[in-house]
Amino acid sequence: MTNVKVEAEGSERGRIGECSATAIERIMEFAAQELHEESTTRRMEKRLNVIVEKNRLGAGWGRRFGFGFTLYNVWWLVIFPVNLAIVAALFSIDLRVNRAELATAMALVNLLAVAAIRDGTVLLLLYKIVVRIPWKKYFFNRMLHCNGGIHTGCAIMLLVWTTTALILPIANRGDHGRIADGIDAANVAMLAVLVAGLSIMMILAMPIVRVRHHNLFERVHRYLGWSLLLLLTAILLRKFFHSRWNLSGIAIASATIAIACLLVVFYSWFLIERQSVHVRVGRQGNVLIVRLHGKARPGAFAKISFNLTEWHAFSVAFSDRENRAYGLVVGVAGDWTQNLAQRCLTRLDRSVSKNRAQVVDEFFTAPPDLEAPPSTESSSGETTIKAFIRWHRPLGFMYSVYAYKRVICVGTGAGIAPILPHIGSDRVAIHVVWIAKKHRGIYGDEICDRVFQHSHTIYDTAEMGRPKPEIALASYEEFRAEAIFVVSNAKFTEAVRDVCKTEKIVAFGAVFDS
Ligand SMILES: Cc1cc2nc3c(=O)[nH]c(=O)nc-3n(C[C@H](O)[C@H](O)[C@H](O)COP(=O)(O)OP(=O)(O)OC[C@H]3O[C@@H](n4cnc5c(N)ncnc54)[C@H](O)[C@@H]3O)c2cc1C
Repeated sequence: MTNVKVEAEGSERGRIGECSATAIERIMEFAAQELHEESTTRRMEKRLNVIVEKNRLGAGWGRRFGFGFTLYNVWWLVIFPVNLAIVAALFSIDLRVNRAELATAMALVNLLAVAAIRDGTVLLLLYKIVVRIPWKKYFFNRMLHCNGGIHTGCAIMLLVWTTTALILPIANRGDHGRIADGIDAANVAMLAVLVAGLSIMMILAMPIVRVRHHNLFERVHRYLGWSLLLLLTAILLRKFFHSRWNLSGIAIASATIAIACLLVVFYSWFLIERQSVHVRVGRQGNVLIVRLHGKARPGAFAKISFNLTEWHAFSVAFSDRENRAYGLVVGVAGDWTQNLAQRCLTRLDRSVSKNRAQVVDEFFTAPPDLEAPPSTESSSGETTIKAFIRWHRPLGFMYSVYAYKRVICVGTGAGIAPILPHIGSDRVAIHVVWIAKKHRGIYGDEICDRVFQHSHTIYDTAEMGRPKPEIALASYEEFRAEAIFVVSNAKFTEAVRDVCKTEKIVAFGAVFDS
């Protein structure tokens, strides 16, 4: 089969509506030409019209009115009863158990879960296990993608148990104003600070606040989070000193869990390497290709920083594990990526006498060659910048393509990045729908050649305008796909998932409020 390149013919407008009609008709025409079967075209057209109609009539109403209940919330329904069950089980073993100690232990168990579910190694193990589960694939993979529900659910329980540990000794106040249960006023004050700090973190983490104050949320989450963990450790140590290290079973368990929490939260900060990162700026300056040293799995994310405080995650777009090299595609969108692009262009300007466009053009005409040692010569259109790289490269939702045999991957713009390393995989057959503006002009030959060498749907919005989400389904039946994966902005991802839901097609997209 040849490439399905969707091109515009402005005057053509089918029944499907707006620009996507042309695209879908062209795909259908193509299918008919290839198969010499007119009936296929008619069947697909009929089917797509039904999809559009059904979608118009009401898919996604729940989400629009905000009463959608997602798998993210299902985690809460699991976590809250599990917490109560653990406490009930402990009381059934020994009713005389110290309640304040138990509340502290429960807080620590939840804290460990909060931290562990954000850990790269834990996520790697979970993804490796979950993609191998042969039944209920959508449910298990989606539950894993919604792991933010574990993070937030356990964080809520952490606050509940910390508040309980604070209130219990006050409620059990002794006759002489001294607080019972061996916890003195200083400890109560420390617990009160802990509760206040956790409450601040949770308020800032609420989606409505977080979207408005994202940088503040990130800083508070990291630095206040670390401080509270150290405070909790201090509370425990103080208590152990006061009891002259005569520890109950629950206290020993608490100490062990606290050590595990400290390790999970801090160990990754000791696994950061400083690398010379090779960056190439796209012809129009809005895409960067970054090459790094090290091993990275397809489906993973790399975290990169220039100052150790602001970290940015990008999908691994190219991976050459044998030569310990991998690459990222970075769309120039926000302040950080704009600064990076500007920095690279300034360096290229300084070190090369040729004009900038000429230098960058050289890169785009060069054949893709990840194996070649990274050039240190800026005359190749590439510049070298020192950056901090996290050793961990956690897996993301795109790794779930390996749960299936045949999938459709829809990417808009730089959303092609996480799809690229799976193209040509021997574990899963992929049909790509890449929606972008002037593919070769903006993304260059290195990326386009990787996509165009196989039979995929290429949709140029510069020629055709924006497509409707139904474009994701155009090749679904012909390709005999089992699922659709979408890498796009939140709006388009939701739109495609709504259409797929109406059609009862399995669809995965990033979880944006995780
Ligand atoms: C899991 C995941 C991994 C990611 N990894 C990376 C990465 O490694 N590097 C990176 O740079 N970015 C990455 N992204 C971001 C991703 O590239 C962008 O979300 C995506 O490119 C779309 O963003 P945009 O619409 O702002 O792009 P734009 O450049 O504005 O749009 C890209 C194309 O999509 C079309 N389009 C946009 N919205 C719609 C719509 N609603 N309907 C129809 N067409 C539309 C536009 O017309 C344009 O042609 C990742 C996103 C996710 C979810």
